[in-house]
Amino acid sequence: MIKKLLIANRGEIALRIMASAKELGIKTVMVYSEADRNSMPVQLADEAYCIGPAKPGDSYLNIPAIMTAAELSGADAIHPGYGFLAENPRFAEIVEASGLVFVGPSPEHIKLMGNKQEARRTMESLGVPILPGSNGVIKRIGEARRIAEKIGYPIILKAVAGGGGRGMRIINTSAELEENFNTAQREAYMAFGSPDLYIEKYIENAHHVEIQVIGDGKRAISIGDRECSMQRRHQKIVEEAPSPFISEETRQKMMDVVEKAATALKLRSLTTFEFLVDSEENFYFIEANTRIQVEHPVTELVTWLDLVKEQLLISSGKRLSFKKEDVKRVGHAIEARINAEDPRTYSPSPGKIHFLFLPGGNGIRVDTAVFQGYEIPPFYDSMIAKVIAYGRTRDEALKKLEIALKHTSIVGVKTNLPLLLKLFESPKFKSGNYTTRFLEEEFNW
Ligand code: ADP
Repeated sequence: MIKKLLIANRGEIALRIMASAKELGIKTVMVYSEADRNSMPVQLADEAYCIGPAKPGDSYLNIPAIMTAAELSGADAIHPGYGFLAENPRFAEIVEASGLVFVGPSPEHIKLMGNKQEARRTMESLGVPILPGSNGVIKRIGEARRIAEKIGYPIILKAVAGGGGRGMRIINTSAELEENFNTAQREAYMAFGSPDLYIEKYIENAHHVEIQVIGDGKRAISIGDRECSMQRRHQKIVEEAPSPFISEETRQKMMDVVEKAATALKLRSLTTFEFLVDSEENFYFIEANTRIQVEHPVTELVTWLDLVKEQLLISSGKRLSFKKEDVKRVGHAIEARINAEDPRTYSPSPGKIHFLFLPGGNGIRVDTAVFQGYEIPPFYDSMIAKVIAYGRTRDEALKKLEIALKHTSIVGVKTNLPLLLKLFESPKFKSGNYTTRFLEEEFNW
């Protein structure tokens, strides 16, 4: 069993991981940047090591500094959380080569899924439906033109190395393709270090539905679905379990097809398979994430599983602690991400939180690491809290979430609370049949 866990992350996910580690009697070690010296995870860990200046490249992405902290602390395992090094196969390799446990999938799986083109090809070969598109990288505009004509507009140009909702361009006509192709390549190079692009059919009125898989390297199980269609600039802001849009039949089909593929791949730890679902409930794989997801709490609430605990047990060499038949999905959970940002422009709003009141009570879970007086540093992601509501039905969960968000008070920085609250005025959101274009179409945002 892991004895001492180094958490190579910050904020709410660092605390979330710490709680499960402590529950299992594992000692915790935080690494932190100079900007996070006074952060909650640093204060609550058994030990903490500063690994460099505020900029992520100098600290949370600084592999030698993190490995040094691991060595000094005597940690025997590293949990990368999400973002930062979580999906860096080189990091996972270095951790394992140093004789430590990497809490996550194998470096090979991380590498495979990190290349979206490879991931698409592999999933297709394992019987998972993918979107029509290019079967590889498109280097020249001529090729792009041919494929676009074949599959029909609109199409989406995607950076092979892209992520986090960036590196995507919707192209509606051949003229737009001519105009955008070279710029998209250039931008991909600037943002991700690789100019490689591929093409997918663009699905209008798409729902984003994902399947959570857990595996122990021998057996993999699909444990449930999540609806993640509420997005701002291709980034999720509200997530639900189960999806209110797909039928039980579609859900089972998706879970089965993913489970087969994940078992064939012998996946270990957590991986999420993301799909776009069209209005007829056809589903197409878009990418897989080999880490704990921001939205994991909604799955935890409806399944009563502790996904981080499972990760830690599996990484300690244990087999899955439950069988497929034991996984029950009961009730409904909805998560709202509170970001310190302008609710209209989405530009980040770092600064000091002068007053803070976070909700709680029956059916409410709040995952956060901020507190009154905390200074949100400008160097990292703007998400500062997740408010998650759980109810017997979707309506009940929605109502609890609405009240919880209305009771939330954050003074000192701008947040997206006004946007989240406005959702509850929308009959479409309440109906559960909202697509990834909801904010543009309904709110003109
Ligand atoms: P990232 O890795 O950057 O998060 P994804 O491939 O997961 O990128 O896509 C993020 C979001 O972008 C999707 O949830 C969806 O809203 C939109 N999107 C991506 N591909 C398509 C597509 N082919 N058609 C329609 N929307 C898409």
